[in-house]
Amino acid sequence: MKFPRTPLMLAGALFAVGSASAIDLGNALGAGMGAAKGLTLSDEDIRKTSEEACAAYDKQNPVAPAGNKYAVRLAKLTQGLENEDGIRLNFKVYLVKDVNAFAMANGCVRVFAGLMDLATDDEIRGVIGHEIGHAKLGHTKAKMKTAILTRAARQGAAAAGGKGGQLAASELGGVAEDFVNAQFSQKEESAADAYGYRFMVKHKYDPNALVTMFKKLPGKGGLMSSHPASPDRAKKIEEMIKKG
Ligand SMILES: [Zn+2]
Repeated sequence: MKFPRTPLMLAGALFAVGSASAIDLGNALGAGMGAAKGLTLSDEDIRKTSEEACAAYDKQNPVAPAGNKYAVRLAKLTQGLENEDGIRLNFKVYLVKDVNAFAMANGCVRVFAGLMDLATDDEIRGVIGHEIGHAKLGHTKAKMKTAILTRAARQGAAAAGGKGGQLAASELGGVAEDFVNAQFSQKEESAADAYGYRFMVKHKYDPNALVTMFKKLPGKGGLMSSHPASPDRAKKIEEMIKKG
């Protein structure tokens, strides 16, 4: 006789696949979603999960091969950015039309071709600096945790339907997708803007590119532009430039 298995008990399978599992969610989820929500994630947990989620997301997206014009351009404009503020960076382009980019705590930086079509080299560097700011300032922690718990629960449900092992990778890709689509708070955006400004100055890039980038982006939604509206943020960057 078959007993129906509850999704939550199986959710641990998401991270039980393979030896490089980032977090042992099994215990927390087995004890119920409440315990899972209370799960604390260390910086190392976040880094490892990011590593796995990024690798899975790369498989789901059209990564520009070496020699592709976007890959060549990104490699050129990020020359000298191997190690930033303690994070070892690795860059790739996704050949998609979206105007987007993201950075994870493990140094996974992905720039979308749609953004590259729209932006100058320094504007792209400005976006990269801003995104690294989110990772470096710890903003990514809560986002990762939410994504992990959401996808772990879904994985559990799917596993109960009999497709467990195979789905794990796609759910990890889903963690990355949720992460990429997550909105940051106004306070976090402002802090990441300030980080991006310091990043530009430190590397002797033109900080005005942050201002022009904001002017190119839509006021609401999408990349770097949740709240406050882009014109306000452009103004703040202009003030930072004036003050030096
Ligand atoms: Zn942002």
